[in-house]
Amino acid sequence: MNRVIMSEIDIVKNLQVIRDKIQKAVQKRPAELKFQPRLVAVSKTKPKELVIAAYNAGQRHFGENYVQELFDKGNDPELVESCPDIHWHFIGHLQRNKVNKVLAVPGLYLVETVDTEKLASTLNSAWEKKEKSEKLKVMVQVNTSGEEEKNGCSPEETTSLVKHVLESCKSLELVGLMTIGMYGYDTSKGPNPDFVCLKKVRSSVCESLNLNIESLELSMGMSDDFEQAIELGSSNIRVGSLIFGARQKKVSISESGITEGVQNVKLDQ
Ligand SMILES: *Cc1c(COP(=O)(O)O)cnc(C)c1O
Repeated sequence: MNRVIMSEIDIVKNLQVIRDKIQKAVQKRPAELKFQPRLVAVSKTKPKELVIAAYNAGQRHFGENYVQELFDKGNDPELVESCPDIHWHFIGHLQRNKVNKVLAVPGLYLVETVDTEKLASTLNSAWEKKEKSEKLKVMVQVNTSGEEEKNGCSPEETTSLVKHVLESCKSLELVGLMTIGMYGYDTSKGPNPDFVCLKKVRSSVCESLNLNIESLELSMGMSDDFEQAIELGSSNIRVGSLIFGARQKKVSISESGITEGVQNVKLDQ
């Protein structure tokens, strides 16, 4: 109990610090980008008590990247009762045979990781069967770093995937593009190439399909780089460890030879 109370205090403070940093980053953007970015609190591996604590501190958008964990937290009676206005984002790799499980989460707001036409079509028909009045919000995940272990469609494939969602998935509402990006990028080297790439991909998608650029959001930026992502036009940042504390590590640093923050995220994919 004590542990939870301690964390609650930290979470309130952590959220406040991040909100202040978001506002500062917003001020640094060019005038046309003055919209308010959405903060998604990534609660993967963290207990429901911490989700509830963050909710009580005013946080409404939460992200999970494991299907089972999202399902369990999202359906937890205490959480459902304590957080009636929760907005869940699914941000992990989604296999088609797990789609129904994700769609069975009350409060599901957005699936950020659509990366193939098949997955889009599966989500579309599964949502259609639910006969909801609203469409299911989705984003297309783009593998901007070209790393093989990353999911996401390639920048070159993005236009055709977006076209498929818009034209053939009538129960889906495409709200934007998402990238995870390379880990541990040194921001002193200039703008993060993944963020620059996602912006370029959006421009070319919008040009090819004759879409308004404002019609596609950008989901980019995590604990290490959300301020820079906001400055570059992110509208949806996904922040985990800065809010909830570092996650449990699965291998030692000496084994992997990679730096702490890097490893921390990488293993959770
Ligand atoms: C874990 C995760 C995050 C949050 O990472 P932090 O570095 O803890 O902020 C964001 N996006 C995705 C897709 C993740 O899997």
